[in-house]
Amino acid sequence: MNITLLGASGGEVTGSCYVLRTKRANVMIDCGLFQGAHKLENHNRLPSKGALTKLDAVVLTHAHLDHTGRLPLLTRFGYRGPIYATPATISLTDLILRDSAHLQSEDVKRENRRRAEKGRPPVEALYTTRQVEQLRPLFKKMKYDQAQEVAPGVIVRVIESGHILGAVSLEVTVEENGTKKVIVFSGDLGPRGAPLHRDPIPFKHADVVFMESTYGDRDHRSLAETAIEAREAIRKTVEAKGRVLVPTFAIGRTQLLLYLLAGAFKRKTLTPFPIFIDSPMAIEATTIYRTHRELFDEEALAMAKAGELMNQLRTAKMLPKASDSRALATRPGPFLVMAGAGMCTGGRILHHLVNHLSDPTTLLLMVGYQSRGSVGRQIVEGARSVRIMGKTVAVRASTHTVGGLSGHAGQKDLLAWIGSMASSKPRVLLTHGEDGPRGALRGLIQKRYGITSEIPDYQQTIEL
Ligand SMILES: [Zn+2]
Repeated sequence: MNITLLGASGGEVTGSCYVLRTKRANVMIDCGLFQGAHKLENHNRLPSKGALTKLDAVVLTHAHLDHTGRLPLLTRFGYRGPIYATPATISLTDLILRDSAHLQSEDVKRENRRRAEKGRPPVEALYTTRQVEQLRPLFKKMKYDQAQEVAPGVIVRVIESGHILGAVSLEVTVEENGTKKVIVFSGDLGPRGAPLHRDPIPFKHADVVFMESTYGDRDHRSLAETAIEAREAIRKTVEAKGRVLVPTFAIGRTQLLLYLLAGAFKRKTLTPFPIFIDSPMAIEATTIYRTHRELFDEEALAMAKAGELMNQLRTAKMLPKASDSRALATRPGPFLVMAGAGMCTGGRILHHLVNHLSDPTTLLLMVGYQSRGSVGRQIVEGARSVRIMGKTVAVRASTHTVGGLSGHAGQKDLLAWIGSMASSKPRVLLTHGEDGPRGALRGLIQKRYGITSEIPDYQQTIEL
């Protein structure tokens, strides 16, 4: 048996995709999109067709685009087999892929206008909404902590990975020639002790481990620490009748922030004020979170069951329509609005920035990473003015960054996770990390557990 890596390897953090081949079956684990640097875009078009031959099943760790974004290519190339995932992952994947298809069609339209001017041939999107919809009948629900045969001789058990709603790590047991091998895929691991989500559950035994290493070189500041600072910044702004603008990531961070606000209202460390969830995708994601409250951690579940979450968030309003979003331009403060995109690269947040960034009573609350060159990054780095939608906007608002909301385990938690399997002396392969973090984690695993981890390359096949 062997495993071929079709992404999230060779220093890449996106495009997660593995193909397990045994004598009896071929199973794909995750089917993510390569994101970011343009040089990688070809990767997205290439590997799936080859990997498709005789594919028996697909299993997903979680819904993020870098783990699911190439799935529609499978149906496009004729795959009609099962796609196994937890129920929450199935719902979130559908949402994320529809959004991805929509964004692609917008991008392609823009690109083709440019090409037409230069007399160059048009490009087409990787996939359309139709191909996303064709995936729906293929999804098969997986139950937590129950072994399930997904293909002949390939048995999968999934357990909580603490990353986003529905996210799991996989234990894949393969029987071949009378021997059994246990292969663990970490998926993306979340931090321990974070609010709302459950903690990742480690496995005790494995023969082979494929492990993510995104933050293998650092620990995040704890959310508890940074949440208090953020709360104070919000309190001051609200008391001064200012507006709080939150460029948000629709899945995970929006719900976490809502949960933290509910907690602050409950403990009376903040007085309730109007909150607007100004993103159709965030609204849909929040509904999915609400229908899967069984996946919340104990405290959040107790609050949800007692009706306390809804009660404390009674000042929160969903704004599905763009006209409601525009109406906020003239609404006096105080209020808090969450709108996409998370890095201020597009979406409704742009209107709010144009309208309110030059007002010194505005607070811009950053809840996630701002990539180099993005408007968000320019503001965080202290730009006096920024260009948004063709306008120059003065920056007089204050900004505050909340750390610890990333949903990724830091170095300490990653080490603890692999540590629980260390006594079974597994073969460890580090993926899903840039060279620096991956190297740092490799060194520590060696030092602490005496295991020399391997660093596989893109398209490498690992014989097991
Ligand atoms: Zn993820």
